[in-house]
Amino acid sequence: SSAQIGVTGLAVMGRNLARNFARNGYTVAVHNRTAARTHALVEEFGHEGRFIAAETAKEFVAALERPRRLVIMVKAGEPTDAVIEEFAPLLEPGDMIIDGGNAHFADTRRRERELREKGIHFVGTGISGGEEGALNGPSIMPGGSKESYESLGPMLEKISAKAADGSPCVTHVGPDGAGHFVKMVHNGIEYADMQLIGEAYQLLHDVAGYSPAQIADIFRTWNTGRLDSYLIEITAEVLSHVDAATGKPFVDVVVDQAEQKGTGRWTVQIALDLGVPVSGIAEAVFARSLSGHAALREASRGLAGPKAKPMGESEAAAFADRVEQALYASKIVSYTQGFHEIAAGSEEYGWDIDLGAVASIWRGGCIIRAAFLDRIRAAYDARPDLPSLLSDETFGREIAEAQDDWREVLIAAVRNGVPTPGFAAALAYYDALRAERLPAALTQGQRDYFGAHTYRRTDREGSFHTLWGGDRSEVSA
Ligand code: NDP
Repeated sequence: SSAQIGVTGLAVMGRNLARNFARNGYTVAVHNRTAARTHALVEEFGHEGRFIAAETAKEFVAALERPRRLVIMVKAGEPTDAVIEEFAPLLEPGDMIIDGGNAHFADTRRRERELREKGIHFVGTGISGGEEGALNGPSIMPGGSKESYESLGPMLEKISAKAADGSPCVTHVGPDGAGHFVKMVHNGIEYADMQLIGEAYQLLHDVAGYSPAQIADIFRTWNTGRLDSYLIEITAEVLSHVDAATGKPFVDVVVDQAEQKGTGRWTVQIALDLGVPVSGIAEAVFARSLSGHAALREASRGLAGPKAKPMGESEAAAFADRVEQALYASKIVSYTQGFHEIAAGSEEYGWDIDLGAVASIWRGGCIIRAAFLDRIRAAYDARPDLPSLLSDETFGREIAEAQDDWREVLIAAVRNGVPTPGFAAALAYYDALRAERLPAALTQGQRDYFGAHTYRRTDREGSFHTLWGGDRSEVSA
């Protein structure tokens, strides 16, 4: 028994993660339900490092040094439970099971509790970066016990992505399900980022009249500034790609129905449970689902809309600059909402998550990696108890500078009939937060009228009810 780590589940993610460990000098035991995958890995990549191929669960566990570190990279959900059931009886107290799949954090909490009773550390771990990241350095978000991180941390730091300043993109996020929770919100923010970029694209196309190739160039320019990020970079690549079969822009030959695997939806479902307004992320999830309703869209094509007015060249260029402002301001809002959800989850489950550290480990390896995350980290470093990212001085100032353009872009979108739910939700959130008074006072009055639900007053403590059906005098509730 000499492997420092084992990986079971050798589809794209598990295979690349195992190779990443091996390339970093670790001896890696590898196992897969279907043994052919295990042998294929060793045959193809055995020269990259030291692998121990195991055909059975028993062989696999026997190959691991103690305390054992066993990574599961299988389909999330029931397959993960099946694999845990198979391996747990073969393990001993002190051993660690690391689940690197996209598990729901509630499942992770349950699994951690059950395994803790047996003395086994269950480390639910978010891994972002896709196939490429798994091989060359992902962003890693481990939960689980502090003790398990002491043993695993150095290995994860080695295989993780490194931020521009050289620091590893991994941190002990918090106990039990904290890592998978943070990975979930990461994906929700990813949905929002993608939606906002999509809206910017459509505005540049439909309102400013630019071609996909021209928009690719605009994105390339943006990528040299404060929007510098992986998603903006790949957007330019996708937009400049030409379909070989038709000679048309690739983006024009792809069916415009977005699919999803569920982590964005979870982010919104959990936000509803926690009472956190993540309107930008929710709009991104809804936009994907709306796009998929082909029959509904077909039946609605004839509905009336405004006629778009073509823009002149200089007007279009000025508009593109405004869209950059709107995109940046909306992005600040969606990160504000995502970090609020992490703070709320941390509070609810007692995780004590360091928000600055989360921003820090998203700087490299993951899909939302961006220069922007350095600034989020700086904001939390300067003030760990920041009530919201919008309260940070730098972000507040940037939004102040962007807001006129942000509003103009939305006016243009409305006037031209271009749907921009992400930009609009972000601006509504911003305006609602800064409002002196909200119509929630009226809502409370209505609730008291029809349901005697009571209200509080601005000038006195206590709860009150107005006798709406009687003489409308006020009583203390
Ligand atoms: P898949 O999600 O496609 O899962 C395939 C693997 O699961 C195979 O090794 C398969 O074994 C195994 N498996 C399925 N059912 C069972 C079972 N009942 N018992 C034992 N093994 C089973 O693989 P991916 O590599 O795409 O993803 C792995 C995990 O990583 C998933 O949880 C995914 O959500 C997550 N993830 C994926 C990312 C990506 O970009 N793809 C990014 C980040 C996380 P067999 O070969 O025998 O069928």
